[in-house]
Amino acid sequence: MIQRIGVFGGTFDPLHIGHLAIVRWARDELALDRIKVIPTGQSWQKASTQTSAQHRLAMLKLGMGSEPGIDIDEREVLRSGPSYTIDTLTALRSEIGPNIALVFVLGSDQLHNLASWHRYRELLGLAHLAVTQRESIRLRDFPPAIETLLQQHGQERLPDAPAGSIVFFRMPMVPVSATVLRSQLAQLNREPARAAASASDLAQLVPGPVLDYIKLHELYQT
Ligand code: ATP
Repeated sequence: MIQRIGVFGGTFDPLHIGHLAIVRWARDELALDRIKVIPTGQSWQKASTQTSAQHRLAMLKLGMGSEPGIDIDEREVLRSGPSYTIDTLTALRSEIGPNIALVFVLGSDQLHNLASWHRYRELLGLAHLAVTQRESIRLRDFPPAIETLLQQHGQERLPDAPAGSIVFFRMPMVPVSATVLRSQLAQLNREPARAAASASDLAQLVPGPVLDYIKLHELYQT
């Protein structure tokens, strides 16, 4: 079987247990040799990330840095201008050559959005897409452009090829999002009386060293 390198991008603002679950399940279910986790530098999709790239990178290293098979790749943080996935995959493909599989891992919310991504049709010339279900975002009722892509590229399993297929992989649902966490953290700051209960909820959703970092640097207070 050819070597398979996973690629997992996100803003990680902040890193949470949903991110950890998706990389672990992708690594194991898709038999990936390694996964490159790539934090977005300047997100073109989100109006602005609340937290600097340096803080997001530091949280990623604390929460995921010692995970087996995972490499944190800083290229998008170091690159100026918007972070387009097509540019990152083009660079990776030229580094690894034509014969190794690249597998871009994403949640179903991102597959729903895919037609808005810069040059999205070209992604499949560089990599496979591996999608898992995210909370209520079902693995059906995709927009027409995505249904067409699925008819052309959908496969039951990853083939022994470097790129070109879309597959789905299973993972238990992990109901958490960074948006909800940011608002819970801000509320904790505004309403300290409720702090004890919320803090124990947060500790279930964010790895301990990341939560300590958030407190130390007073992130997400507003
Ligand atoms: P935000 O709420 O700020 O949009 P987020 O929680 O969606 O953030 P991102 O960093 O934007 O986190 O997500 C990176 C990738 O992780 C995306 O492919 C997304 O679908 C996936 N992902 C995030 N949270 C989960 C989750 N709970 N379950 C499965 N996939 C997830």
